[in-house]
Amino acid sequence: MSFDKRLLDIVACPLCKGKLVLVTKENGSQLVCKFDRLAFDIKDGIPVLLESEATKLSLDEVERFS
Ligand SMILES: [Zn+2]
Repeated sequence: MSFDKRLLDIVACPLCKGKLVLVTKENGSQLVCKFDRLAFDIKDGIPVLLESEATKLSLDEVERFS
């Protein structure tokens, strides 16, 4: 199931409440908060917006998404 891009207008980072960027990879999509440098998984089309479940990103990775 693919992520509905319209959800991007609704979802926000659970930490800073900022906008999230949709990043599509070979193994699925993630929502990235560039401010907190966190990547949130999308499972079955539903973003998992939990800090404990998020992946920490390096500065290099974040810049690639800009
Ligand atoms: Zn954030």
